[in-house]
Amino acid sequence: MADNKNFNKVSVIIVGAGPAGLATAITIKKQKPHLDVCVVEKGADAGNHNLSGAALEKLQIHQLLDSAAAGWKDTEQAKDILARTIDNDNVYMFLLPKIKIKITPFIKIAKKLGLGLGQMVHAGDYLVSVSKLSKWLASIARQNGIEVLTGFSVEDIILENGKAAGVFLKEQGLDKHGNKQPNYAAPEKIYADVVVLAEGCDGLITEKFIEKAGLQRKDNQLYSLGIKEIIKVSDQQYKAFGDGTSIHSMGYPIWTPFIGPAMFGGSFMYAMGDNKIAVGVIVGLDFKYCDFNPQDALTHFKNTPFARQYLSDGQVVEAGAKMIPEGGLNAIPRDRETGDIGKFNTVIVGDSAGFVNMLKIKGLHNAIESGMLAGKAIAKNMHNTNNIAADYTRLVDASNIYREMYSARNFRQTFVKLGATFGMPFSIISNLLPQWKAEKDYQAMTSAKYRYKGNKEFDKDTFTAMAATEHREEQPSHLTILDPKICIDKCTAKFNRPCITFCPAGVYETVHDEVKPANPSNCLHCKTCQRKCPFDNIRWTVPEGTGGPRYKNM
Ligand code: SF4
Ligand code: SF4
Repeated sequence: MADNKNFNKVSVIIVGAGPAGLATAITIKKQKPHLDVCVVEKGADAGNHNLSGAALEKLQIHQLLDSAAAGWKDTEQAKDILARTIDNDNVYMFLLPKIKIKITPFIKIAKKLGLGLGQMVHAGDYLVSVSKLSKWLASIARQNGIEVLTGFSVEDIILENGKAAGVFLKEQGLDKHGNKQPNYAAPEKIYADVVVLAEGCDGLITEKFIEKAGLQRKDNQLYSLGIKEIIKVSDQQYKAFGDGTSIHSMGYPIWTPFIGPAMFGGSFMYAMGDNKIAVGVIVGLDFKYCDFNPQDALTHFKNTPFARQYLSDGQVVEAGAKMIPEGGLNAIPRDRETGDIGKFNTVIVGDSAGFVNMLKIKGLHNAIESGMLAGKAIAKNMHNTNNIAADYTRLVDASNIYREMYSARNFRQTFVKLGATFGMPFSIISNLLPQWKAEKDYQAMTSAKYRYKGNKEFDKDTFTAMAATEHREEQPSHLTILDPKICIDKCTAKFNRPCITFCPAGVYETVHDEVKPANPSNCLHCKTCQRKCPFDNIRWTVPEGTGGPRYKNM
């Protein structure tokens, strides 16, 4: 393990060095400097596995930085990472590639009337790279005496008598067949008084903990997949776009009225400085098209005349993919009896808990706030760690996080229940409708085909190269197809093996007529495959530490 220090026992272990985990760590350390706080991150560096839009509200990040880094506004990092505030905020409805309606005025009226839709106004927010933000927060954490251990995957949580006692790290140095190689390192344990799960969306340890500790969600967690590219454009194009510009769009190519396709989601374009524009699509994983490749949708959006005027002839300099938890309030995992978001001395924060406000399709501000609230509850209750989850939950349920989640409680489910065409208008009054239950995303798959094919094959190899993803080749595959017979006997005839198409990294291939995760080294850790395989036939496990994408500006 890194350094000569003894990490076998710490006061608090935090799994995941994203904004939520680091906000937790920093808050604890500022309030109780004597506590040993350790953050474990599977990426080779903090921020490597963090990808988001991202429009970031100012309140929560300012509160965190004010508490942790005096004079932060004058630092080089602040001047770089928080350099852009949205001053040109527009939302469009694309009816067809060339026909769009600017709906910003309606959203602004909705805001004035206090309607949920008004939350889509982002003017005044920062445009940030969440990978850069996470690296910065990790450096602030280290300056405050927190150990941020990067390149270590956590395999499981240790539970003793129903209480967390720490975590197991993943063993390293096995060959493809599971044999120990000369560099083998046995799975280490880190014991801790408190465990914080801050792994991001669909956290592996979080899901294991939910099952073992008897937590439950009132309704299924739903997911979407975000595909993003950063494109370097010409001076003229960037100037025309505007340095403080944020564009969100609904409609084509994710949804068009009556003729289809009919999916939940949209597109975005954000100014990133240095002549770079981030462009992406977000697609609900309840899509029904078995041949749908989310990267086709991104290409179609980039080919609209609107996007093309800013992006044509630009160079893709970075790319990536990530899931977003969309189930909202009723998908937050809570203890069956107490309603706690965690249990005793274990809490779940950020995207791992699902704190994404679907009216904004933003969760970064909530992730940071939940980390600060968890830190507060932990610092206060170290003398009786059994109270931590209850105290944290009380704080969350009295906070802006809960208010936002409550306001959006039926929004996404209305689309699931009524479909995109009717869900769109009814989502405005979703809270007046019955609270719908949603089926799991993979159950929505049908044999229907996505209607906007036709662009040339998307080059997934180049895409993964732009994510700089890599894994040690000689390790066992971290992707398992549970029953290969299902692929042949059921999936091929019905859906024609959709994992081959929807995986953004082209990991799955047909080899000797069998579907295999043939290129696990390309995996972007988005976990879409285990949530969208229509037969729930794929399991994603954590690879050795340091593997995965190496995002810098995402
Ligand atoms: Fe179909 Fe799932 Fe098999 Fe892929 S892994 S072929 S999606 S059953
Ligand atoms: Fe995402 Fe699964 Fe493909 Fe990896 S293999 S990139 S987790 S869909």
